[in-house]
Amino acid sequence: MHWYNINLRFYSSFFYHSKLLKEENILHISFVDSSRLFMTIPCLKCKKPAIVFIRYSGAHLCKAHFIEYVERRVKKDIKKQGRTNDETTFAIALSGGKDSTVTLHLMHQIFSSHPHVTLHAITVDEGIKGYRDSSLPIAQKNCKNLGIEHHIISFREAVGVTMDEIALHHDELGECSYCGVFRRFCLNKKTKELGVDKLVMGHNLDDMAQSILMNFTNGDMQKLARLGPHSKIQPGLVPRLLPLRLIPEKEVMLYGLVKGIEFHNAECPYSLRALRGSFRDIIDALEENTPGTRHSIMNSYESIKDLLLTQYPPVTLNVCPSCGEPTSQKFCKTCLLKKRIL
Ligand code: SF4
Repeated sequence: MHWYNINLRFYSSFFYHSKLLKEENILHISFVDSSRLFMTIPCLKCKKPAIVFIRYSGAHLCKAHFIEYVERRVKKDIKKQGRTNDETTFAIALSGGKDSTVTLHLMHQIFSSHPHVTLHAITVDEGIKGYRDSSLPIAQKNCKNLGIEHHIISFREAVGVTMDEIALHHDELGECSYCGVFRRFCLNKKTKELGVDKLVMGHNLDDMAQSILMNFTNGDMQKLARLGPHSKIQPGLVPRLLPLRLIPEKEVMLYGLVKGIEFHNAECPYSLRALRGSFRDIIDALEENTPGTRHSIMNSYESIKDLLLTQYPPVTLNVCPSCGEPTSQKFCKTCLLKKRIL
């Protein structure tokens, strides 16, 4: 892995940043005074040099106002998604990547001084050599620095097989089908052990728009209706909170960089086979032509979510006779998938 320091003149388009950041793992970033080097565009709010242009709103923002812009939307949306009660235990699903690490820092910033809130972080180790083993130390370091208790649960210990071993089967289902089901199983198991009220996920606006479009295109209305955040509690399942669901991926990346947050910036070796990639390309192209498309997809979903839940209410869950986890079928998906390969 290649780490290096970079002085980045941040006023430019997001596209420049995303291209650059994809290519390298950037550990630190420091600002140079861009006014000495370029003609600057002033911040919409304070006239200091802008570091970023938000295309969908037409706003140029300086570092301080960009940070405030992200944090304000996250706090407002957490309130909208609803806290369970005053005594709340949150667990952040922490991979060490940018989304979950930024979520960890925001949750700490918002709730660490709250006397009745407890924060935990859970990392699922899928057993992907060269990928998860390099993000784990970063996740651990962030938790240590913030004083958040960190828990690790591995596929090996919880399911009995690693993702690298699953990949050797070349199953037509693809690696991500296994990984998604087993990861949910691990998170559900660990959150229940810890007595967690809400599981906090790092899904950003791009992820949400992709999931909505994918489920809609696949005609999977049940799944579409069940997308988080969850306001109703189903026995055996921990409801989810999604603090970044309205923040575009590139803003999450930029927020992490300007706040000096260390995160893991690499792609899973199995992600190439993921169907999600096609939907990402479609949504990126739509957003490029019509800025604000991701927000429109999200808003449309929000406005029909109650209708969807009326039409497709949560099914009564059974208990899997093999592992005891909740399931809508006789056996849970984890046990069915395990049977295919073990
Ligand atoms: Fe798992 Fe697929 Fe994500 Fe890799 S890309 S971590 S295999 S879900």
